[in-house]
Amino acid sequence: MAWDFETEPEFQRELDWIDAFVRDEIEPLDYVLGNPYDKGDARARAISKSLQAKVKERGLWACHLGEELGGQGYGQLKLGLMNEILGRSSWAPSIFGCQAPDSGNAEILAHYGTEQQKQRYLQPLLDGEIASCYSMTEPHAGADPTLFTTRARLDGDQWVIDGEKWFSSNARWASFLIVMAVTDPDVSPYEGMSMLIVPSETPGVNIVRNVGVGVEGEDHASHAYIRYENVRVPKDHVLGKPGSAFVIAQTRLGGGRLHHAMRTVAQLRKTFDMMCERALSREVNGGKLATLQMVQEKIADSWIEIEQFRLLVLRTAWLFDRYKDWKKIRKDIAAVKVAMPKVYHDVVQRAMHLHGALGMSNEMPFAGMLLAAEVMGIADGPTEVHKITLAKQVLRDHKGVDGIWPSGHLPTKREAARERFADLFEQEIGNL
Ligand SMILES: Cc1cc2nc3c(=O)[nH]c(=O)nc-3n(C[C@H](O)[C@H](O)[C@H](O)COP(=O)(O)OP(=O)(O)OC[C@H]3O[C@@H](n4cnc5c(N)ncnc54)[C@H](O)[C@@H]3O)c2cc1C
Repeated sequence: MAWDFETEPEFQRELDWIDAFVRDEIEPLDYVLGNPYDKGDARARAISKSLQAKVKERGLWACHLGEELGGQGYGQLKLGLMNEILGRSSWAPSIFGCQAPDSGNAEILAHYGTEQQKQRYLQPLLDGEIASCYSMTEPHAGADPTLFTTRARLDGDQWVIDGEKWFSSNARWASFLIVMAVTDPDVSPYEGMSMLIVPSETPGVNIVRNVGVGVEGEDHASHAYIRYENVRVPKDHVLGKPGSAFVIAQTRLGGGRLHHAMRTVAQLRKTFDMMCERALSREVNGGKLATLQMVQEKIADSWIEIEQFRLLVLRTAWLFDRYKDWKKIRKDIAAVKVAMPKVYHDVVQRAMHLHGALGMSNEMPFAGMLLAAEVMGIADGPTEVHKITLAKQVLRDHKGVDGIWPSGHLPTKREAARERFADLFEQEIGNL
């Protein structure tokens, strides 16, 4: 039986290469280049193409994908170990071909797409030539997708889409959008909604404005408020079977949530290193911060919480590789999703605090990271919804008890035990 926390030496060599490559070649780009999804930025494109070529040469491009899709078929566990490094940098995932939301969109295209859809949309996405967008949330409803009203009607051999979507990340740079719409209002939303592939240049795809997170101005904002107005796409642009949007969303979001968690481990480690460095550098009351017990407590708590979270993430990735089915590990994904914003927030808050005023300032990354932690508790569904999923899944493996006494009731247990061993005790007494 394999029960082992070691990385095989060949793969560790790849991880070491990735670590050095990200540190030396990619992380500095975060401070000089714009948004990785902006394929129109010629300077950024030239730099990233040459780095992507090195990654491809090393055989590490899009490696979570199967070989038939140009990847290495490494699976989620190895992707997890890679993302623990790539997540340090906003550019690194794109240089390695595993960036959100494109990785999730590629996954559903690979899984549910027709040959034509794969050729036209998946291949250039996998090649890093284009960006994509997942357009699901609406201004009036997000956590409860059964309330979505964006409608797609069949008119001859075309779907006609009308409605509004909100927080459609990267729509401004995307070549196509995957839009969730009601295609049959007469059945339950679980059977009456479909995913449609919409090329961005289609008339009627109108970006009302780009919304930023925190204080980002519209120039940098990347989450689009979109009005779909009489948008016509061919009938064959439905992804999977009509009515299967919820099933597809589950596939799409399972992977997406786990990948965010893997990259969050990278951010946590980076924060933790900054916290320790500060503790060992800053003088107070004639000694280093690191000598103070309340500082040591922050370091100990952070280390434990990061390790606990990391193990949960890697175990969930391992479970996926085992079952190859997101539905089978819904409970585990929900647990990861719930744990992520809390550990992220708590560790960043401690690091920020130990850095004093500098920690609050715009000269350190902590304020942005605190906001990123909050984002992790909302994007891909709020924490409460995932707690409900987790609890429901867990409760399926338990059952209630008849009668008033719970199964842990001690007098009842004692009585049952006495009955069970009555003969034995009687024999023992007889032998005395
Ligand atoms: C940075 C970022 C990127 C995003 N990218 C995308 C994207 O690319 N595509 C896309 O389609 N969407 C995207 N979203 C939207 C995201 O999926 C939604 O914000 C999320 O599903 C929550 O929906 P909502 O914002 O409408 O919140 P609401 O549904 O209004 O929920 C608000 C709050 O109500 C409470 N609540 C809701 N339901 C329950 C419940 N059942 N039990 C208890 N409390 C509850 C929670 O506290 C919740 O936070 C993104 C969001 C962010 C922040």
